[in-house]
Amino acid sequence: MRNFNLPTAVALTCVLAAGCAESPPPTVYVPDQDKEIILQAADQAKNYWTDQGLGQVAAAKVVFVERNQKFACGNEAPTTNKEPDAIRYCRNPQAVIFNQVTLLDELPDSPAEAKRVKEPLYRNITYHEYGHAAQQAMGIASPKLGDVAGKLVLENQADCFAGMLAAKYSPSDHDTMKDFYMAKATRDTHGTGQVRWDSYNQGFDTGKCELKKPDIQSNVSPTH
Ligand SMILES: [Zn+2]
Repeated sequence: MRNFNLPTAVALTCVLAAGCAESPPPTVYVPDQDKEIILQAADQAKNYWTDQGLGQVAAAKVVFVERNQKFACGNEAPTTNKEPDAIRYCRNPQAVIFNQVTLLDELPDSPAEAKRVKEPLYRNITYHEYGHAAQQAMGIASPKLGDVAGKLVLENQADCFAGMLAAKYSPSDHDTMKDFYMAKATRDTHGTGQVRWDSYNQGFDTGKCELKKPDIQSNVSPTH
């Protein structure tokens, strides 16, 4: 799942075509119409959670950052704050941060497949991140740095919340998201593709997303 490496592609073009060496690398990676998908999903999530009595969620703004930029997320440990931002939620100040390069990396390698899943994927990533805003509004504490089990509990619930919002606002995303999760052969900090799909599907089907103790054995990447 990688390799929409625009700067490399541009650099290569410049090697082949003389005279372009001074063109600056592109600084914006995600086109405006794609940002629009995210902003629209953010509005849906804010409306949904406000209707549930969690109006604080609406304070979380969407922030797009470029490759090496980072958003100053005030309450994070300095070690994580040194890294360039990925796609994530910041509790203070409340913001959903989209690193534009990381966002493109989420898309499947095949251009046809990337085109097919892009809109549902961007929408559901946004729902997921706003799920973390809802957790904060519910008073659920942020897991401590390195608390893998604690993080997974929150990630599974955020996936479930994403499914819940999809059922309300974009039910046709269901099958595409199933394909997307089930194609993930590797485990990451969110759990396996199967675990992520199960959580998402539970939210979609039942609208119930309690905090569940994860099955650590099947969720966590081996350390070697
Ligand atoms: Zn998350």
